[in-house]
Amino acid sequence: MKIILLGPPGAGKGTQAANIVKNYNIPHISTGDIFRKNIKEGTELGRKAKEYMDQGNLVPDELTCDLVASRLSEKDCESGFMLDGFPRNLFQAEYLDKFLSEKGIELDRVINIEVDPKLLVERACGRRICKTCGATYHIKFNPSKVEGICDVCNSELSQRPDDNEETVSNRIQVYISETKPLVEYYTEKGKIANIDGARDIDEVFGDIKNILS
Ligand code: ADP
Ligand code: AMP
Repeated sequence: MKIILLGPPGAGKGTQAANIVKNYNIPHISTGDIFRKNIKEGTELGRKAKEYMDQGNLVPDELTCDLVASRLSEKDCESGFMLDGFPRNLFQAEYLDKFLSEKGIELDRVINIEVDPKLLVERACGRRICKTCGATYHIKFNPSKVEGICDVCNSELSQRPDDNEETVSNRIQVYISETKPLVEYYTEKGKIANIDGARDIDEVFGDIKNILS
């Protein structure tokens, strides 16, 4: 299964990715997670990416594309993968097409999670993530059992520095101008499946399972 998860920031891509990974046993490749890991580890890539992420802008393609190509070349991607947060503009989509076609790999589906921008700020600003295992919660819509503590591994939860109103608003604008055109791009290729993401997490996952079955 080779899947792309598309959708605005806060649409629920990471949340659904966790469900998909459990069900389909494919690696979850989130460029945002890779950048955050690099920031945590203090690498050169992390230092460069942070500058853009803190503003809610896209990290330049030359830092992003090769990273994805090398991750997709790893052994665990041979039987499938799920890209979350990549591609995010036309250049990245064309880069990915070229990379996959050179390897004779065909994408199965592009799952586009649609959510009205009005809901996105509350979703992103209420997001909490586990510092250790990365599990995602929401203070109102998907709270952990004990406030501030991860249900999975009992570690502390934290808020992403880019999950504040100002940065989220910019990320939504960047999504509209840079990423949204990819909906048409993949529709023309006959790959898109549009999902209403403004419903319960389980209902959204029900739709995804139907699409992938
Ligand atoms: P993305 O990866 O698309 O940025 P996330 O999966 O991290 O989005 O979800 C953003 C926030 O919204 C998280 O706090 C998550 O718990 C919450 N969330 C995800 N899906 C839903 C949903 N269907 N209904 C309500 N809240 C949701
Ligand atoms: P995400 O975790 O998907 O919400 O991404 C967080 C931030 O990481 C984005 O706001 C961008 O700054 C950066 N980022 C993630 N993926 C990409 C990408 N494919 N291209 C450029 N920047 C990205």
